[in-house]
Amino acid sequence: MSDSNDLIVRVWGARGSTPTPGPKTIKYGGNTSCLEVRCGKDIIILDAGTGIRELGNVLKNELPINVHILFSHLHWDHIQGFPFFKPFYASGCTFNLYAERKSGGTLEELLSAQMKYPYFPVPIPKSLSKLDFHDIYSNQEIIINDIKITAYRANHPDGCLAYRIQYGNKIVVYATDTEHNDELDRNICKASEDADVLIYDSNFTEEEYKIYKGWGHSTWNEGMKISRESGAKKLILWHHDPAHDDKFMDDLEKTVQLSLPNAQAAYEGMKIVI
Ligand SMILES: [Zn+2]
Ligand SMILES: [Zn+2]
Repeated sequence: MSDSNDLIVRVWGARGSTPTPGPKTIKYGGNTSCLEVRCGKDIIILDAGTGIRELGNVLKNELPINVHILFSHLHWDHIQGFPFFKPFYASGCTFNLYAERKSGGTLEELLSAQMKYPYFPVPIPKSLSKLDFHDIYSNQEIIINDIKITAYRANHPDGCLAYRIQYGNKIVVYATDTEHNDELDRNICKASEDADVLIYDSNFTEEEYKIYKGWGHSTWNEGMKISRESGAKKLILWHHDPAHDDKFMDDLEKTVQLSLPNAQAAYEGMKIVI
């Protein structure tokens, strides 16, 4: 039984860039970014990658629901599951959707675009449930009942937001799609201060990063540095590269744990209770 004071994190998709299903990715999963965070009765979803489809199937048992969905940014791997989230098509639900204001349009316009002809046959449903769109900015605070969410600037092509979610004295940080530089990223360090769990973009190894610098992703080594600097207690590797199969991820996790014994690579179905 979970306590109403618990902050519960569940992983529905930890893959980066593009879905990667198949026999080589069964353990860590092939679905793209989707994280469920429960703070008591409140449901927060971070990103709507393909992992959100299965989350929607599970949430169907709790309808009608009131859900807050925060987008780190609108690259495909973070929105592709959006049209397949079945609770959108149910009645009596409330969905609050948040993303950084982009120059190309409001969040409603941008999310609607991927569901228009010729990309998708069904437009965003308007009538059955209530959808509220919120265009937000970095450093903005979002208060949902007893939860404080703060958006921080991440370093990624076209911009991206990291989120710090605080519920009582429990803190989880979602910092996907962010690239480091020579100096520690002060924004991400600040976001991660004394976090119980830091979920961090560990898409590349150090060797890969040398080749793909500028693509907007980071390494577990940098995640470890940020954890140590900010006092984050547990590092979770996120945004697994499509080329990193289960064998690769097992080896990577073992290497990371030599330096940070309680660090883990995110896998579909992973649940952390804080
Ligand atoms: Zn991504
Ligand atoms: Zn991205």
